[in-house]
Amino acid sequence: MLSINNLHASIDGKEILRGINLEVKAGEMHAIMGPNASGKSTLAQLLAGRELYDVTAGSVRYLGHDLLSMSPEQRACEGMFLAFQYPVEIPGISNALFLKTALNAIRKYHLQPELDAMDFLSMVRERMQRVGMDDAMLLRAVNEGFSGGEKKRNEILQLSVLQPRLAILDETDSGLDIDALKLIANGINDMRDPARAIILVTHYQRLLDYVVPDFVHVLSQGRIIKSGGADLAKNLEQHGYGWVNADEIDSE
Ligand code: ADP
Ligand code: MG
Ligand code: MG
Repeated sequence: MLSINNLHASIDGKEILRGINLEVKAGEMHAIMGPNASGKSTLAQLLAGRELYDVTAGSVRYLGHDLLSMSPEQRACEGMFLAFQYPVEIPGISNALFLKTALNAIRKYHLQPELDAMDFLSMVRERMQRVGMDDAMLLRAVNEGFSGGEKKRNEILQLSVLQPRLAILDETDSGLDIDALKLIANGINDMRDPARAIILVTHYQRLLDYVVPDFVHVLSQGRIIKSGGADLAKNLEQHGYGWVNADEIDSE
């Protein structure tokens, strides 16, 4: 589904990603962990098409396309979804309108008819119930005045409405209390599907108590310095990121 090859990227001449290699297949869940400022959000945003970065080397294939030559809209229509570390507020646009517009844009791209208002509403209400969101949230402007936990729930709602092929979640767990964390974890687990891949970007192991990834990668200074199974996250929690660095030096 996604194949990243020797990806190098810079901002203002400063190299942030320094040779990323990653293969993600349908049905898999990958966690990308790593210390602050290691480049996790940069990688996530570059994949989604944010035009802030200069790719200086390497390539990315997504569903057989050259991802880097696709517009952000095309990426979204081809099923890529990025949940931001800091969800954006969109004053004046209701949650309902936002979701309906996004969903119908994707349907149109795939030559499917628009969902009518009633079908859309009943589908959205059912999904809202699952994430514990009140109906009233549909009429509120997207994320405006939402608490941290409400923004995260809203991201999970967006996911469950848009049903992406590749979901990239950047620090979806940050700032959540334990109940919200479990709810978000349930939402993510619900999204698991043989046809879908999920990339979870997270600094902490906490979320991974409830969501068990197939693969864990440690990003440090713009490179994946270690990959493993779910156990790797446990070891990181016990020993910290310094443990990987030390381990790396030992093995060199
Ligand atoms: P992480 O998500 O792993 O904490 P980021 O990808 O946010 O790391 O940041 C990686 C590095 O890139 C940091 O040193 C950060 O300061 C730098 N960086 C990120 N965005 C910008 C930007 N817009 N301009 C300049 N530097 C940036
Ligand atoms: Mg950070
Ligand atoms: Mg980040």
